[in-house]
Amino acid sequence: MPSTARIALNRPLRRLFDYLVPEGLSVKPGQRVKIPFGRQQAIGLIVETDIQPPEGITLKPIHNALEDWPALPDETFQLLSWASDYYQHPLGECLFTALPPALRRGRPALEKTEDWWRACGSGVALPTNAHKQKTLLDWIAQHKQGVKGSAVIKAGFTRSQLKALSDKELIQAANPASDTCQSQQYREAVAAPDLSAAQREAASQLPLPAAGFSASLLYGITGSGKTEIYLHYLKQNLAAQDQALVLVPEINLTPQTVARFQRYFGERILVWHSALNDRERLSAWLKIRNGEPVILIGTRSAALLPFTGLKTLIVDEEHDSSYKQGEGFRYSGRDVAVYRAHLNHCPIILGSATPSLESYHNALCGKYRLIRLEERAGEAFPPTISLLDIRSRPLEGGLSRPALQSIRQTLDSGSQALVFVNRRGFAPVMMCFDCGHMVECPRCDTRLTYHRRDRAMRCHHCDYQTPATENCPKCKSEAFKPVGHGTEQSEDVLAANFPDTPIVRVDRDSTQRKGSIQSILKQVNSGEPCILVGTQMLAKGHDFPNVTLAVVINADGGLFSVDFRAPEQLIQTLLQVSGRAGRGSKPGKVVVQTCHSDHPLLRALCNGRYLDMADQLIKERETGQLPPFRAMAIFRAEADTMAQSLQILDSIKPLTNAPGIETWGPLPALIARRADRHRAQLILNTDNRRRLNLLLTGICQSLDQTRFSKGAKWMIDVDPQETG
Ligand code: ADP
Ligand code: ZN
Ligand code: ZN
Repeated sequence: MPSTARIALNRPLRRLFDYLVPEGLSVKPGQRVKIPFGRQQAIGLIVETDIQPPEGITLKPIHNALEDWPALPDETFQLLSWASDYYQHPLGECLFTALPPALRRGRPALEKTEDWWRACGSGVALPTNAHKQKTLLDWIAQHKQGVKGSAVIKAGFTRSQLKALSDKELIQAANPASDTCQSQQYREAVAAPDLSAAQREAASQLPLPAAGFSASLLYGITGSGKTEIYLHYLKQNLAAQDQALVLVPEINLTPQTVARFQRYFGERILVWHSALNDRERLSAWLKIRNGEPVILIGTRSAALLPFTGLKTLIVDEEHDSSYKQGEGFRYSGRDVAVYRAHLNHCPIILGSATPSLESYHNALCGKYRLIRLEERAGEAFPPTISLLDIRSRPLEGGLSRPALQSIRQTLDSGSQALVFVNRRGFAPVMMCFDCGHMVECPRCDTRLTYHRRDRAMRCHHCDYQTPATENCPKCKSEAFKPVGHGTEQSEDVLAANFPDTPIVRVDRDSTQRKGSIQSILKQVNSGEPCILVGTQMLAKGHDFPNVTLAVVINADGGLFSVDFRAPEQLIQTLLQVSGRAGRGSKPGKVVVQTCHSDHPLLRALCNGRYLDMADQLIKERETGQLPPFRAMAIFRAEADTMAQSLQILDSIKPLTNAPGIETWGPLPALIARRADRHRAQLILNTDNRRRLNLLLTGICQSLDQTRFSKGAKWMIDVDPQETG
């Protein structure tokens, strides 16, 4: 019988395709092949071989294999198959996420390296009149490591002279990538500072790579020296030939972290994030796939790459919501990493000053080991946090008098201050005080944010924008004013109050240009007095030793939200922002402005003990029958009308009728219309994850066979991060 194979394509289809394997070709799961598909050709990945195709179907043969080794080795293949089933996303698209774009398109798995040349020290003698060739040969011989072809041309020689020398076997092509003697002995620079007693105590509780699978939750308050612990751990326990993965939320925001790793491990550090170009991605991917002993620092999708010798995983800031992909293949990089550690029989360390309730719950049930590190490293102490009630206080750009005074004192003492504002732009709403008109996005159920710098009104939910007007667009009244405040407004007020101090704004608008975050960090790290004003971006793991004051202009956003995760996220953000203050030798102070200074959550914040608050929130989740006590999944629908969206979900609802599965909805989403799409959702909640998974698999299969009205779409989100 001829041999056969089942193949996955990079398409949103919950099905695979069967092909004949031509004689002489042998294929393995995970291998890339080119196949005829319809009237075109497609790149596929082998999923299974020697399958029993359904009877009466003539199979087409595979064209060829792109390489004779599997692009996705066994463990990566298993990982992605598991993720496809767990997150209910088509296998083909899951598998292809682990390939760099060039390989998805069928390009060869080869690095486009430059030609390198090295003198052989032998070969036929040169004719005496070949002066130029002789000079070139001498020049190349001087460079023991070899020289690049482009450098040869730059030095004034020609390609034909190179070829002449190569034909005479006087020089040979030297591939720098295969120059293993160089790439394997990674230089290890700089001695690490000694760990403090508290750090040593925490580090000693981390299981060694050889001990097999374990998950540890390293709860270390901000500035306690978690990063230093990771560095020591890897330095001491990662063997020379091993690979390690360090997941971080957003690499471009924390170049300092990468720099610290590079100082310890030099060229062994490799980075992976969305700003890499296709060539850089392919190059990094090949190193990982070839088993080079790299320590990869990467964002979420790094968790899916084809490592072959992974011996340790670390997830820094494990609570960060950016680990969950919000569209397409909606996986959690953190959770995939935990499963991966399990597949690799190796340890994973989840670190955070504000652990997610999911991970904390796992620690409380004994699934994860909880390691506590509750003092700051070096000479630093935790900051003092106080609430400032702003009811009936006059505000300037959101800032109260006492807050401005604290900033002045901080600057006078030669330190830096940080102001946290939860909205970018100038003001979240423009309102007419005559007719009450508020400017809304024509495409979404939201209001437009006023951006004064660009004189524009922008929607933060779609790409709509329109020029700002002086007067009310409806009644032409001049009483047309901003309501609420964003970073631009606070920046203006601070500039007016502190004309001699540089104000540094950090938000998505000010950091769009490449390298701008670097120059911002440079200014802050110079230590000169300045005021940082910015959004969530400021809460992300930065180490600003000279910031001693953090002001939160309004803490109340998440207190009364409908999203069940909002209180958790609020506390995490506030503590992370607070954690930027007082990291050096000077003590830090945090002022939190609020209209609800008697709210229990905010009161608890003042003693800064995250786990106490987490205990409280965990109890509420248990009472409310919510994750992490229950498993959750959401079907979302979007269409040209709300009726169509609700209709899709109404047709799904009866299919969810199973013991132990609760459903809520269907209901319109919090922002019911976004970019002219009407959105609704149906929430599933259960104490039986296994049953939920089986049920979802069945439902998704049957939805795939159903035709809905044109433009209508459904999606499934398992373990959703947002429920609004
Ligand atoms: P975290 O990752 O917990 O926020 P970091 O590892 O960034 O903490 O450490 C906070 C600061 O303390 C950094 O400036 C770091 O260089 C310093 N630090 C960490 N450990 C030590 C140590 N053992 N001795 C001296 N300084 C340390
Ligand atoms: Zn008006
Ligand atoms: Zn919009």
